[in-house]
Amino acid sequence: MHRNLLFDLDQTLLDFHASEYTALKIVLMKNGLSFSDEIYQAFKEFNKSLWLELEKGTITREELFIKRFEYIFGKCEGDSSNLDPLKTNDEFIKTMSVNGVLMDGALDFVKRVKAEIQKARIYIASNGVTINAKGRIASTGLDQYIDDIFISEDLGVTKPDPEFFDVCMERIGEPRPSCIMIGDSLTSDMLGAKNAHITSVWFMPSGDVKEAMLEYNIDYCATSFDELYEILEKWSKEIV
Ligand SMILES: [Mg+2]
Repeated sequence: MHRNLLFDLDQTLLDFHASEYTALKIVLMKNGLSFSDEIYQAFKEFNKSLWLELEKGTITREELFIKRFEYIFGKCEGDSSNLDPLKTNDEFIKTMSVNGVLMDGALDFVKRVKAEIQKARIYIASNGVTINAKGRIASTGLDQYIDDIFISEDLGVTKPDPEFFDVCMERIGEPRPSCIMIGDSLTSDMLGAKNAHITSVWFMPSGDVKEAMLEYNIDYCATSFDELYEILEKWSKEIV
């Protein structure tokens, strides 16, 4: 049996926000609109609220894509009357997909896991857009160390839905105790692992950590890649 490590992608291995910032700047300016740090912050906050709605099932993916650009057009200087929000969203996703940014130390960490943890397999389990996620992974060189990639758009289900993990388990083809979910999000990664009865590591915890660990039944917390490595090394020796 392998040690099946399921990593969330964004703010776990890749810096989503750094890619997003670059891509939004390129796309808005290319379309004759203004860009500033304030515009990026506004986009980021509104987008976050839309993703939470998507996780709850109150909006669809396409609605999310349209709404976020309709909103941001309203914040920019310049003429956006002829711009199609869905088309602009496509441009944005394509631009992001060739501008992947690693979290500090992520590549060395993944190399070390592959080289030193026996029978380790590395998977990506991410909510997002396939072309965006896979493109960013490839643009950083991370793809060489990854055994399989599970993206919600491909799977047709989203974390924390247990069905998302059912599909992952089927593709991995090994029992649940051989799997561990590592991620930064309580509402998708930690709740998802809890729902799916998979061991969990909360990466870069914040807020009331103790209370969250109880509520989401979290097994481990790691505040750095070094700490995460130690946890995974220890866990991988404990499972049969
Ligand atoms: Mg994340």
